Amino acid sequence: MTSSFLLMTFAICKLIIAVGLNVGPSELLRIGAIDVDGHFTVHPSALASVSSDFGMLRSPEEPLAVLHPSSAEDVARLVRTAYGSATAFPVSARGHGHSINGQAAAGRNGVVVEMNHGVTGTPEPLVRPDEMYVDVWGGELWVDVLKKTLEYGLAPKSWTDYLYLTVGGTLSNAGISGQAFHHGPQISNVLELDVVTGKGEVMRCSEEENTRLFHGVLGGLGQFGIITRARITLEPAPQRVRWIRVLYSSFRVFTEDQEYLISMHGQLKFDYVEGFVIVDEGLVNNWRSSFFSPRNPVKISSVSSNGSVLYCLEITKNYHDSDSETVDQEVEILMKKLNFIPTSVFTTDLQYVDFLDRVHKAELKLRSKNLWEVPHPWLNLFVPKSRISDFDKGVFKGILGNKTSGPILIYPMNKDKWDERSSAVTPDEEVFYLVALLRSALKDGEETQKLEYLKDQNRRILEFCEQAKINVKQYLPHHATQEEWEAHFGDKWDRFRSLKAEFDPRHILATGQRIFQNPSLSLFPPLSSSSAASW
Ligand code: FAD
Repeated sequence: MTSSFLLMTFAICKLIIAVGLNVGPSELLRIGAIDVDGHFTVHPSALASVSSDFGMLRSPEEPLAVLHPSSAEDVARLVRTAYGSATAFPVSARGHGHSINGQAAAGRNGVVVEMNHGVTGTPEPLVRPDEMYVDVWGGELWVDVLKKTLEYGLAPKSWTDYLYLTVGGTLSNAGISGQAFHHGPQISNVLELDVVTGKGEVMRCSEEENTRLFHGVLGGLGQFGIITRARITLEPAPQRVRWIRVLYSSFRVFTEDQEYLISMHGQLKFDYVEGFVIVDEGLVNNWRSSFFSPRNPVKISSVSSNGSVLYCLEITKNYHDSDSETVDQEVEILMKKLNFIPTSVFTTDLQYVDFLDRVHKAELKLRSKNLWEVPHPWLNLFVPKSRISDFDKGVFKGILGNKTSGPILIYPMNKDKWDERSSAVTPDEEVFYLVALLRSALKDGEETQKLEYLKDQNRRILEFCEQAKINVKQYLPHHATQEEWEAHFGDKWDRFRSLKAEFDPRHILATGQRIFQNPSLSLFPPLSSSSAASW
């Protein structure tokens, strides 16, 4: 940054609050001052870096300014100003920008709060081993939470597959991985939150205090407040992981085994249950599957799939070095109950931290080939157990054809591990599956790798579910109209809307989710005319 630019930025920092609240955001930025301990910036590179996301599906739209807060109070000062200003400008928290459809954007008239990048003076994770929890800043990356808690021999219980996501970002959705069947999603493992509401109040909430806000914020897509602190439960950290993959050619047998595994909750069970679909040989050695290679390359033809779809079950058993002898026996007992193709067992053994951080290795590999920063038309669906075989026939064996352009994860979860009072939405069945179509589009690739092709395929998958009356729910949802959002939330919609009226009445927060429209903000294209009529 040049010194003149730093001066300009400094001037902006001093501006906003001092001028009062009856001016628009651009005027505020020009003339006002919000007195923050962190800093605002309007540097072009900062504006550019927050105007796109991992999905790379939208044209970048630069906000007015970016706040790098150093405390919850900094965030609160900005939101209070936005709330009190005549035209109530938008404020969006941005975690690590790993959304797909601009969910962390604030639009041209808004301010983005960079919860993660360049944090200056935000609190370090504070581990309380006696109470088995850690207090973390909302913009902390999960990988840093892990590093800190491991210093005490402890770790959070529930994860995402990838750790370079922020605590506030995943708790605004749910945060799921192969541990969710047993521990529930990450939102089921939170004891307390500090939240800056859409009125700029800093509120503490938990099961005992401000309960409605607590449950509303968890899975709340950033609509009711910006999470500045979360208290996460911990367990003694395992040291090592036995990581096993086995193949199936029958979808029925594959899902029966997965469902059996997630029904186990005693001492003797696997600790992580996931799986993925293999529709073409390319996939098995792709980025998610580096597991198999180079020491362990898999020839699909050697597993007798007759060119059809294969399913890979992925399971782990955690253990301590001192239990290395019993782990073999435990795995053997558990595996005996499964009905995979006998010649298809692939096993590896690694440190717990390396297992949790596995996707980052793949990221580095893709980055080195310029294949990370490409459009990601991802589609994540929760599919009810009763219809998963129809989904298999229609999508895995139908719409997908034999090229997928990325991993397709599939694993079941138990609904009773999700708190119905949270804002997260799941199908109305005791067991449901996550199906994650994690595809990358290539500009110069084959037709089946192009963005338009993949987007069209997503559209066809959703259409198929609708026609076949498979009541899927989108995870990391993206909907275009008010009717779609109402249908998405179903029974939870009335409560969601009333929480919005209570905690963000001027519709300032997380406008990039495009759930609520503020008539005084013209940030995004309007919703459909019928939905607009109801607002
Ligand atoms: P952002 O994308 O920056 O923000 C997401 C939303 O949350 C926005 O609306 C934003 O305004 C809001 N928000 C951000 N911070 C806060 C805060 N502090 N308070 C309130 N609202 C906030 N998800 C899983 O559940 N399981 C996985 O295994 C998984 N794997 C992934 C792997 C990769 C490679 C990627 C790119 C994503 C993965 N995700 C996974 C999805 C991830 O959970 C979402 O992208 C999520 O949005 C978190 O990303 P983020 O921290 O970058 O948040």
